[in-house]
Amino acid sequence: MAPVVWQCADAQLDTSLAEAPPTAFSTEDARLDTGKADGTDGSTGSAPAPSPRADGQVPEVGRSGPDAGDAASPGANADADMPGANADPDAGGPEPFADAARPSPACGAATTPCAGETCCDGLVCGRTTLGQVCCGLEDAPCATVDGADCCGELLCRAGRCAAPAVCRDARTPCDDDGQCCGDLACGRTTLGQVCCGEDGVACATPNGEDCCGDRLCVDGRCVSPAAGLNFKAPFPCGQSWTYDHHAAEVRLALDFIRNDGPTGGELTLASAAGTAFQRNEPGGAGLYVVIDHGGGWTTYYFHLSDFLVPDGAFVGQGDPVGFVGSTGASSGPHIHYEQLLDGVGQVIHINGESLAPYPAEYGERSLVSDNGCP
Ligand SMILES: [Zn+2]
Repeated sequence: MAPVVWQCADAQLDTSLAEAPPTAFSTEDARLDTGKADGTDGSTGSAPAPSPRADGQVPEVGRSGPDAGDAASPGANADADMPGANADPDAGGPEPFADAARPSPACGAATTPCAGETCCDGLVCGRTTLGQVCCGLEDAPCATVDGADCCGELLCRAGRCAAPAVCRDARTPCDDDGQCCGDLACGRTTLGQVCCGEDGVACATPNGEDCCGDRLCVDGRCVSPAAGLNFKAPFPCGQSWTYDHHAAEVRLALDFIRNDGPTGGELTLASAAGTAFQRNEPGGAGLYVVIDHGGGWTTYYFHLSDFLVPDGAFVGQGDPVGFVGSTGASSGPHIHYEQLLDGVGQVIHINGESLAPYPAEYGERSLVSDNGCP
């Protein structure tokens, strides 16, 4: 184990951040908020394009038409059109079905069994959830709110028999009338207003951009950041690093150096998914990355030698964000890592477990990363 004690150069770093912590970091927060709002607005603008998927399924909708027709085919159609005595009360009415719904001695109203009986005008004898009864074809007014009187697969929508709604997949643009498939909801995402996953719903994109609101994709499921963030170590899978929080360290930060190989030049990884921002504070944090995880959560990665992610880019958990370096107030290569909620440093948790109580020196405790493991 290396006896090297690279860590934050306390005097300079702590002075710069301790003297004006609210100013220094509230500024960053303000920038984050602005950036986030801009991104949201920008993505919203491009949302309401008609979904190709919905178009693609139109043939399926059409299919219910022929089905309904088939069900009604055994001569019943002709009966309905026949100018029987029942046609008279309906003849002048613009809404034949409404008239037909009145008791009529001569024709079968909706939901009336139609074996050997003539259905009133506008209805046919067809198969419904009620059995073989007089029922409405597509666009005919429905008599039951659940569409039980509609022929075949037709349902009652807005008072009329209509084809079942085609459900929309995740990432498909939606509006107030949009019917999203299964557990999906119509909500705002980084893709705009689309069908998206709420808590616990499987995510279709690994970075969670199909999850509603600020939810993230963790282990294949959309989770609320506050409830489900599962931070992982900020260095590559399988590596062992030791950490400390020396006497004059800022907030609840930890400094990490590697046990089993060189620290400098190693990758710094996103400990959870989010939007990464490049920052530079020459006298303190040096080149560093802030990741906004949503829900008020951010993580800091200080003293990088270089960035590996564009400013404002979405990163998945385990994505490299920079090279470990020693820029800013640092005595040698190490990762200065922090987890913050609403700008306030939190006790660092990795894989749901607290690293407190923090050791004051390297070598006492170590952490093996499972971040980015296959
Ligand atoms: Zn530090």
